[in-house]
Amino acid sequence: MARRKIIAGNWKMNMTPSQAVALCAELKDLVKSDSVDVVYCVPAIDIVPVVEAVKGTNVQVGAENLYIEDKGAYTGEISAPMLVDAGVKFVIIGHSERREYFKEDDAFLNKKVKKAFEAGLTPILCCGETLEQREMGVTMDWIRLQIKSDLVGITADQVKSMVIAYEPIWAIGTGKTATTEQAEEVCKGIRECIAEIYDAATADAVRIQYGGSVNAGNAAELFAQPDIDGGLVGGASLKADFGKIVNY
Ligand code: PEP
Repeated sequence: MARRKIIAGNWKMNMTPSQAVALCAELKDLVKSDSVDVVYCVPAIDIVPVVEAVKGTNVQVGAENLYIEDKGAYTGEISAPMLVDAGVKFVIIGHSERREYFKEDDAFLNKKVKKAFEAGLTPILCCGETLEQREMGVTMDWIRLQIKSDLVGITADQVKSMVIAYEPIWAIGTGKTATTEQAEEVCKGIRECIAEIYDAATADAVRIQYGGSVNAGNAAELFAQPDIDGGLVGGASLKADFGKIVNY
């Protein structure tokens, strides 16, 4: 089955609302594509202006986070229904920065995945190992644990529609990309894990991205791998190079 590639930018905590609108205008023609899905995952405050700025283009908007309740006394949080109402289609869940700095564990992330599906959002579920884990030879054990824990109670049909991003922590924002072989090996391992939990059709359908210092120079080789269905791109999503990545 031919899976459609998905290239998503993770803007992280960058871009004021006016800078965000300017970046959308700068990238508009550069990210045009009929063959891949293009998503900008943006800070919460940028969602409304970015949804407006990309109207009529091929760009879809994602959030970088959501909360597990729909409304109430959760000061500072943003709910799934709020995101949907604002025009958001995707949501990053379990980015290593949220796991590390905000102590989000797999049980909590599982609730977020459930909440995203309940609201009609497509989760981009991140997983990845530390350099220490890689050197200890436990990369795949760790990632299988993350995937299995984060997907408890998620149906095969839901998994078929979602996106999983493999992001080795040591490659995020470091300029150090995993080799093509390392990236493909883990993405393939994730697909095998999905086949074990669900079935071959689900494993065949789920889209698995690589993330970690993807740039205009390495995107083509990474995305040519049989189990890599696009990328989650941090730093390079904030500049014109993102257009080159989309049109790799
Ligand atoms: C990310 O934030 O998900 C990421 C992969 O960042 P970078 O591309 O900058 O390494």
